[in-house]
Amino acid sequence: MADAVRIARECGIVGAGGAGFPAHAKFSAKADTFIVNAAECEPLLYKDQEILENFLEPFAKGLLMAAEAIGASRAVVGIKEKHARLIEKLKDELPREVELSLLRDTYPSGDEFILVYDVTGRAVPRGGLPLDVGVVCSNVETVLNIGLGRPVTEKFVTVSGAVPEAVTFKVPIGASYRDVLLAAGAPLEDSGFIIGGPMMGFVEEDLLSPVTKTCSGILVLPKGHPLLSKKARKVESVHKIAYSCDQCMRCSDLCPRDLLGHGVKPHKAMIAIAMAPKEAEAWQQSALYCCECALCTLYACPEDLDPFRVMVEAKRALRERGFKPAKAELAVAPMYPYRRTPTSLLVRRLGLEDFIGPHRFAEITVKPKRLVLPLKQHIGAPSLPMVANGDNVRAGQLVGEIPEGALGSRIFTPLKGVVSKVTRDAVMVEVT
Ligand code: SF4
Ligand code: SF4
Repeated sequence: MADAVRIARECGIVGAGGAGFPAHAKFSAKADTFIVNAAECEPLLYKDQEILENFLEPFAKGLLMAAEAIGASRAVVGIKEKHARLIEKLKDELPREVELSLLRDTYPSGDEFILVYDVTGRAVPRGGLPLDVGVVCSNVETVLNIGLGRPVTEKFVTVSGAVPEAVTFKVPIGASYRDVLLAAGAPLEDSGFIIGGPMMGFVEEDLLSPVTKTCSGILVLPKGHPLLSKKARKVESVHKIAYSCDQCMRCSDLCPRDLLGHGVKPHKAMIAIAMAPKEAEAWQQSALYCCECALCTLYACPEDLDPFRVMVEAKRALRERGFKPAKAELAVAPMYPYRRTPTSLLVRRLGLEDFIGPHRFAEITVKPKRLVLPLKQHIGAPSLPMVANGDNVRAGQLVGEIPEGALGSRIFTPLKGVVSKVTRDAVMVEVT
């Protein structure tokens, strides 16, 4: 077993930038190209830049180990060309065999399919994976964790938006969002909170929810900010306003997956709302290939409708009825290079210009009194609890194990304490 695969399995390493796919399964695949996704295309998230700036040595170690594990002859870091100073540092300090691929400052340049096409010129088939074109992609923090080679007990989190300064720091997994916000000096009153980036993140009301292995950031916004209201819309009102759609098709014209040739047509899903269920099904089917980037709602639609939510709902409904994505090789649209969405315009459309500014990495200690460690922070089966009520646990101890033969990931406690509750969903630790 390759070192990267063994470390990823033993240390509970998962994709740290999104859905949390177990890294040992990803690095068991064989591909000729390994791409580290350093695009960080969501505005106001900075953790990947800060990792490359401050933890380059273990990152480089992990990169070479992961590339070796998958047998890649090409190892590439995809990073936006606007980070000129950081790019110079990477050129100077990364091993010579690692290439840099400079990306345009567009959204969503970090979507894996977009990244693969921009870096290699290979188009991932509709309904397929980067592996279909000989590529494995991984997040910066995932690669760092391989290089560090120790159990994943901390998460790099950016706190930005309406805060004194945008800051990235390491947070014990299982600490609450409230613990994190207090440590960052963020205002809790008269604020709303988006977990993740402004585009793909979600509004969180319960600040006692825990930070998991996939949390990238917390965006703080003044209460009443239009982005909070848009994201908090109820599905009933989404459907109600959908009747105002004038079929201008701007959502489909700017859809990145449609530009890649995947035939994703949010305007058709919008009109399907007014149709009978059988007819609607046919018009909704492109939703199966939507990457949920939210560009159609938060940037494209001139009428403030919500094609993104309509697509997400349609995808869920289609899956429940047994529809599966079908693989197909389709041509990339000739307009692909010209219809990319510049981040600067997106920031303006989101009303976030006032929050763009300096950011830094800081050694901030988060001191939670209690940890809530969900047993499913990843794709696959939930972990099995390895502790019981009343157990004393030490920092770094295994509390959740992968079920025999299943896809999953191990869970560790970052701090010592006493286990106060164990359910099928989570282990709770009172920190001592
Ligand atoms: S969320 Fe909208 S823009 Fe993004 S892939 Fe889906 S349909 Fe296209
Ligand atoms: S952009 Fe808005 S109005 Fe135009 S087709 Fe899409 S949902 Fe309808």
